[in-house]
Amino acid sequence: MSCCHHYYALAEGCESAFSVDMSKITLGPGCLAEAGQRLSARAVKRVAVFTDSRVKEMPFFQTLMDSLLRAGLDVALYDRVQVEPTDQSFLEAARFAVEADPDGYLSIGGGSVIDTCKAANLYATYPADFLAYVNAPVGEGRPVPGPLKPHIACPTTCGTGSECTGIAVFDLLAMKAKTGIASVHLRPSEALIDPQCTHTLPHNVLAASAFDVLSHAAESYTAIPYSARVAPSGPMARPMSQGANPWSDMGCERALKIIGEYFERAMADPSDLEAREQMMWAATLAGIAFGNSGVHLPHGMSYAVAGLVRDYRVDDYPDDHPMVPHGMSVIVNAPAVFRHTACACPERHLDVARWIGADVAGAENDDAGEVLSARLEQLMKKARFPGGLAPIGYTVDDLDALTDGAMPQQRLLSNAPLAVDRAALKELFRSALSYW
Ligand SMILES: [Zn+2]
Repeated sequence: MSCCHHYYALAEGCESAFSVDMSKITLGPGCLAEAGQRLSARAVKRVAVFTDSRVKEMPFFQTLMDSLLRAGLDVALYDRVQVEPTDQSFLEAARFAVEADPDGYLSIGGGSVIDTCKAANLYATYPADFLAYVNAPVGEGRPVPGPLKPHIACPTTCGTGSECTGIAVFDLLAMKAKTGIASVHLRPSEALIDPQCTHTLPHNVLAASAFDVLSHAAESYTAIPYSARVAPSGPMARPMSQGANPWSDMGCERALKIIGEYFERAMADPSDLEAREQMMWAATLAGIAFGNSGVHLPHGMSYAVAGLVRDYRVDDYPDDHPMVPHGMSVIVNAPAVFRHTACACPERHLDVARWIGADVAGAENDDAGEVLSARLEQLMKKARFPGGLAPIGYTVDDLDALTDGAMPQQRLLSNAPLAVDRAALKELFRSALSYW
């Protein structure tokens, strides 16, 4: 069924190798208590701790702080990280880091916290104009000059995989668009992944992060094969988003099977702790996978969906500003995308559908997009999520703006299994308006 072998056929002038790069990971209940000793082992004496106001109130946060104090570390706390960060909130965090002058960093929270800490570490270590390191064409895309200070990331949601990637995403307020900074040097040195953090996640945070995991794995698995990219000019020019490869395939498959087994349980019963903890394991596997392959269209489109939000708000998130949570802004595009991309690698789309619990008996290659997307829509209904862009406030009048917002995400768009031009992208947004 799987097309693993012929998917990576080598071709003249194209890439013939792939790299595997990942953070050191420790995973298990209670492992947050290791933070202090782990920082000390990296010769950190003064640590800047990044978190947000919600996480700071959680009992596991105290476990972490106790561990830092037991290890004799000098702690500077930054608890003002903004959910769905912006260039302004990144800069404020960087100013804090410059003033605090730590020799190491620790982030504890969701993707917003970990990404903010990556940016603070970068701009405090290698000061530059803000747009210098931001992905081209929005920013200059200047390479990060070298290694950053040690950073231990402790994810508390079960989605972003940010602890395993060298990417930091933010809203550029002036352009009303999400973009990011990408460099291997941004990848945290270590991750401490404590599944007990998932026990207290409210429903919408759990659902949004679980859909983010699902989409990371589905996008990585269906991405363009690494062997179809033009060969880089040298090893240092090989991109982090190198396309699907046999290593990322392993993590994606396992993550998607876990989602197939536990997603519905986690949505139906908040007290099902086993299901929640399994979602965090899936997030870790998918994070390691997509950190080495890259995601594609649902994420590329999500930046515009989140960036152009007008007045949408979701329960369980801070209500001080309108926002579409990251995982929601991704999954609303996914059914439209996979109906469109299935023709490029139908067997892979059928694999994903089967692993996340679709009935694929009798399905032919021509059915792959419909089978996968119908299953995604089922899961969105079970999570009580909006059925497209219309319920979160977009209409046909927004299609051009959404398309303009997504077009600069070429790093992601070019990782799709088929080429998508402006007209095709606009049609994808149109198809994503309303699924039911
Ligand atoms: Zn994501």
